Amino acid sequence: MSDCFLDGRTALVTGATSGIGLSIARALGGAGARVAISGLGDAGQIAAALADVDSAGAPASRHFDADLRDSGAIEAMMAACAAWGAPHILVNCAGIQHTAPFADMPVHAWDAILAINLSAAFHTMRLALPAMAAGGYGRVINIGSVHGLIASINKAPYIASKFGLIGLTKAAALEYASAGSRASGGVTVNCICPGWVETPLIEPQISARAQAIGGDRDDAIRTLLGEKQPSLRMSVPEEIAELALWLCRPSAHNLTGSAIPVDGGWTTQ
Ligand code: NAD
Repeated sequence: MSDCFLDGRTALVTGATSGIGLSIARALGGAGARVAISGLGDAGQIAAALADVDSAGAPASRHFDADLRDSGAIEAMMAACAAWGAPHILVNCAGIQHTAPFADMPVHAWDAILAINLSAAFHTMRLALPAMAAGGYGRVINIGSVHGLIASINKAPYIASKFGLIGLTKAAALEYASAGSRASGGVTVNCICPGWVETPLIEPQISARAQAIGGDRDDAIRTLLGEKQPSLRMSVPEEIAELALWLCRPSAHNLTGSAIPVDGGWTTQ
């Protein structure tokens, strides 16, 4: 159970029409924040996401449209969001994946993954951080990956984007470390680095593995976990959301520039 410590705050969560982003949007709304979401989806999916955030307790919610491959669209989204309420909390969660051997990786996959997983976070951060610093409170939470800390085969652009996102996190954290005060809450920038989390993003990898081993979905999940995630348990989006929510607390004012693994021991090996 969370208290309403985010009353009067506004949050912007990208990638919030699905998966981890939607869970984080719900958690922030449940703690009293007005929640701006962005993410792709048809009208029904967007309406369902907003209804979800509202039912968690958000005092207001709105969807801001942008294809994050387009820096101009991001600038328009950030301007529209600032007019609704400049975000005190920015969660960069939108992300895509494409798996293929290095030499076979389509160039368009490289371009899209770098744009959505990394460049979009640069643009939202450069546009949101000055107002956070001016107000003395700000939280940027980038959703990275274990693949920002360690590599695997067949994921070159995803890994490059997530290593880059951790670097971007640290660079911004340093520049804004002295903004605000303990009383105002300060400005922090952190990166959460999940291992396997049950969301639509990983379904293609589960299906491919099921086909490769001639097993069902559960067999595929077991083998994927067995190779990398020593806990042998998937995370669920709500668990990542609880950590994101905690990072927004005033008491987290001195936790900045960190890459926090939630990976069942994957990167401990
Ligand atoms: P998801 O597929 O459920 O959600 C992805 C979100 O990104 C959706 O809202 C989608 O609309 C949005 N998005 C995709 N392309 C976009 C575009 N061009 N413009 C705007 N929005 C776009 O995936 P998820 O698993 O919830 O992933 C969220 C984040 O978590 C990603 O950054 C992903 O890399 C990271 N992550 C996921 C896992 C996992 O196992 N699921 C593990 C580590 C990190």
